[in-house]
Amino acid sequence: MAGSGSGSGLRMVALRSLQADAAGCMLVAVIIAKSAPRVFKKTGPESGTGTGTGAGGESKGVFSFTIRDSTIDTANCSAWGSPHFVMSLDQMFHVGDVVDILSPQIKSRQLESRSEQYQPLVSSPFKIILNERQSEITIHEAENYTNYLPLLHLPTKSAAGYFTLADVEKSSQDFREDTIDLLVAVRAVAQPRNIKTKFGEEIQNREVSVMDQTTTNPFKIMIWEPEAIKRASSWQSRETVLFISDIKLEWNNFNKAIVGRIIGRTVITEDPHTAEAEALRVYARHAPILRSAVIDRVSQDIPDPISIRSVMTVQQVLDRANVEEHVQFTALMYAVITQMDLDGCNKVTLTKCVSCSSIVKETKTACDNIECSVASGAENMEPEINFNVYVTLTDHTGSLRNCRLTGKFAEQVLGCSVVEFLSMDVDAKGQLKWRFLLERCTVRIVVMKGPLVSILTCSVGDPNEVVSKLPVY
Ligand SMILES: [Zn+2]
Repeated sequence: MAGSGSGSGLRMVALRSLQADAAGCMLVAVIIAKSAPRVFKKTGPESGTGTGTGAGGESKGVFSFTIRDSTIDTANCSAWGSPHFVMSLDQMFHVGDVVDILSPQIKSRQLESRSEQYQPLVSSPFKIILNERQSEITIHEAENYTNYLPLLHLPTKSAAGYFTLADVEKSSQDFREDTIDLLVAVRAVAQPRNIKTKFGEEIQNREVSVMDQTTTNPFKIMIWEPEAIKRASSWQSRETVLFISDIKLEWNNFNKAIVGRIIGRTVITEDPHTAEAEALRVYARHAPILRSAVIDRVSQDIPDPISIRSVMTVQQVLDRANVEEHVQFTALMYAVITQMDLDGCNKVTLTKCVSCSSIVKETKTACDNIECSVASGAENMEPEINFNVYVTLTDHTGSLRNCRLTGKFAEQVLGCSVVEFLSMDVDAKGQLKWRFLLERCTVRIVVMKGPLVSILTCSVGDPNEVVSKLPVY
């Protein structure tokens, strides 16, 4: 008896003019979120909405989704029926589909009800209930289909209230178990992983790493919702921007960092049409992503390296560098340079893409990183030659190998430009090396997890000053 499309004499109603218990109406809206269907062994709590289905003990299922039909109006829908019914709806309808909903039941929401907490926050005071026997949902097959699609790019909440990733990092203790809104750019999308639960069930999860302008640390988002796992396949590194409302924050012991989790309440708006999102997309195209590019950016952002006075030994640096994922600190060291191969067979310069910081191989003339705007031809920037020297620092507690001495920091320490260096003969390079090798130096460094170490300043130290300041460890 289900109505068969718009010819059935139903009255088309906008979400804004819904009324409780309105009968014989039809809605047209775009799906902006959906949850995996749930099946109950016994009759569901809303069995009263049915007309005799689900007699005692029969399995019943629910499929929940969220719709929008204007810049303001959003509502939650739930379709109740046999497991087969809800499963087939789940397979047929996805975020981004414009649908006709025929003969639904319109009920007032009970805001204090527990189920409200697991659904997206919506504007409508009503919930829309579809019933297997009475209601119908179909793809909206009309010319105005595309009129609804811009609604997919409007955030579901005020764009002003979102948190930056720096906010999340700084106050991570307070935010735990809370939900917040984020505006982020996609940095990397991992492949879905299959995981077996302790009940032997096969489920999938997917990890997406995102970024914004406020921190160089990536932020990880864990997705367990099948619809969001699927949607993530179309997200592109450095290109897709997401407004994520009501993402849950939780501490991840494995990553030793706070992570985000997509839950039933979360709504993900892809490529929001806002000025902030556009600014973030422009930033993301050039943002430092490689660890070496990140530490270079961090190094450049330190206003006055000479002011670094926290003295540490090699062992102290090694200990602290492995505490947690996003550890990052500066240190002043008094150490002997036991390796600095300026005149040997190691290559001490590197040609890098100015846009994405990828290494440009000697055999190539331009960047070939597929995610880079130079490689794609969208931008034209000459690659840049930089110092890339690896130094070992040694003191009485051990050695710190592979400390990076790069870019303008290397030019300042060595007292010559990279072009001047390349024109030196082997003897001159050797003399330059012996000004530092086996000398005790005053060295200021930036350290990230690993440890990944970059040298900011390095000068041959006055032995007396060195001895008096060396920490005993
Ligand atoms: Zn590039």
